[in-house]
Amino acid sequence: MTDVLVLNASYEPLRIVSVRRAIILLLQEKVELVEAAAQHLRAQGASFAVPLVVRLVRYIAIPRHRQLPCSRRGVLARDRETCQYCGAQPGRAQLTLDHVVPRAQGGRSEWENVVSACAGCNHRKGGRTPEQAGMALLARPRQPSYAALVLLVELEQHQIWSKYAYT
Ligand SMILES: [Zn+2]
Repeated sequence: MTDVLVLNASYEPLRIVSVRRAIILLLQEKVELVEAAAQHLRAQGASFAVPLVVRLVRYIAIPRHRQLPCSRRGVLARDRETCQYCGAQPGRAQLTLDHVVPRAQGGRSEWENVVSACAGCNHRKGGRTPEQAGMALLARPRQPSYAALVLLVELEQHQIWSKYAYT
């Protein structure tokens, strides 16, 4: 049994639930089927396509400033696994996290101060701010605007789900 991606009514990814939970939501008509697997299963006397992606019938507002922990996975996903100084995409394992304002200068480990950087840029920047190092950021780092962004890494691991990753 696989998991099921739940989309908001607006098609933003919201969360991942079990197939069982998704079928209950379908039976309650709280969600509608968006993508299904080829195989069927029987429940409550009826036959169902195994859901892969469902969508809420009613929109759920997501708190704008919900606190999301700043994690390596989250920062790499937010930055699309791209070095925020030179634009290189050397692959997830080759990317480092850079504190824009170095910790030694009081920089904190938060979304607004942590970016993805290739090893070369991170080494060149050293313990300096971008200004001190004469390096420019491609974009100002921000906390992802909605909770779904933290699902990005998981979404990318499922072929069917990946097309919802960047809505
Ligand atoms: Zn770089």
